[in-house]
Amino acid sequence: MNVDYLIVGAGLSGLVMAERLSSAGARCVVVERRSHLGGNCHDTKDSHGLFYHPYGPHYFRTSSPVVLDYLSRFTGWREAAYRVRALARGKIWSFPINLRTYEELIGREATEDEFRGYLKTPDRPPANSRDAITSIIGTDLYDLFFRDYTLKHWGRPAEDPSVCQRIPIRTNRDDRYFTDSFQAMPDEGYTALFERMVVASPHLTVHFNMSFEEARARFPHRHLIYTGPIDAYFHYRFGALPFRTLRFELEEKQPHELDGDGHAQVALQINYTGMEAFTRTVEVKHVTGQSSRYSNVVREYPDRYVPGKSEPYYPIPAPAEEQQADLYRQAGAEERDVTFLGRMATYRYLNMEQAVTLALHKADELRRRHRWADGEKLKVEN
Ligand SMILES: Cc1cc2nc3c(=O)[nH]c(=O)nc-3n(C[C@H](O)[C@H](O)[C@H](O)COP(=O)(O)OP(=O)(O)OC[C@H]3O[C@@H](n4cnc5c(N)ncnc54)[C@H](O)[C@@H]3O)c2cc1C
Repeated sequence: MNVDYLIVGAGLSGLVMAERLSSAGARCVVVERRSHLGGNCHDTKDSHGLFYHPYGPHYFRTSSPVVLDYLSRFTGWREAAYRVRALARGKIWSFPINLRTYEELIGREATEDEFRGYLKTPDRPPANSRDAITSIIGTDLYDLFFRDYTLKHWGRPAEDPSVCQRIPIRTNRDDRYFTDSFQAMPDEGYTALFERMVVASPHLTVHFNMSFEEARARFPHRHLIYTGPIDAYFHYRFGALPFRTLRFELEEKQPHELDGDGHAQVALQINYTGMEAFTRTVEVKHVTGQSSRYSNVVREYPDRYVPGKSEPYYPIPAPAEEQQADLYRQAGAEERDVTFLGRMATYRYLNMEQAVTLALHKADELRRRHRWADGEKLKVEN
């Protein structure tokens, strides 16, 4: 079957492109090697009908009216307060670091001014994550929350110059995880949102359990939109790009394991900052608003990434990896009639707002460059 656009990946990036382009009259095929819509944003239900996120928790937030307007065509929203706590030295702490965390550290109430006085002002660019963090919060809070966590999360110590991460700090008592103006979950879940996007796409077919390699020959196309890993597209010509992978374990919770409010843990997300093998546990019931005698928790274990075998989750934000990724990006820019888009094809961590913004932008660009009409073939205008 001849199509205008072959789109590889039914994640957020691929589906936004499919909806935008097919709504403008283009014939689109999406192929997805997994068996469901939504890529890593996919959600599903446990044996008690409670949502969970099999590829990691997804907390939607945005300050972009464009992104919000667009997604609101396919979903209603349920306002959410994303609360995270840290478990360190056997105690639950307020997190991300804010005035309450400081009060918990010193064991008494404090003022914003006092906390500001405790924080430092870095006098030089940081050499690594340890430097970036301790130059602001000192070593006490760093040891509590970041030293072991960084090692677990990235598989590299915070002293390693290859990873340099900064952290949010609030001098007031605002303990929301994010500060965006809009923070909410799709009221019927992410998968329902994606299903509505597909229904709203008039010239679209989606094929599951199908890889790019198989689809390439089966669907001759005018233009390819590729949202898979860019190194795989080029058969690892410049070596495999490193990612951090994750393993998720679902724990279904029985009524006797829940507190009086029907929850298994005190907050949506608990970060485990010591040397436990896992980094966080997430109970999405805190934000889905589902009412049930049961609940569930997903426990997240970071792991070593094996290209082609494990799922690529987090690109490593380090200079050597950036250089390697640039080689692939340059090769990508030289491919004719191919658009590389999304987290894995750009080797950039993109949150959902960023992924939607980039996809909307790219779809507009393609709609301007390509013209089509019913029954006519796609015309490319250079
Ligand atoms: C653990 C984790 C937690 C996150 N939490 C949040 C959050 O709380 N809030 C937020 O805003 N963002 C979050 N994100 C980011 C969010 O997941 C991304 O913004 C979003 O998934 C980007 O969509 P995408 O389509 O680019 O990639 P993906 O979701 O990865 O979709 C790409 C799809 O392509 C398919 N594919 C790949 N290769 C092939 C091939 N060769 N053939 C066929 N199909 C292929 C894959 O199976 C996948 O379904 C999180 C990301 C991770 C990893």
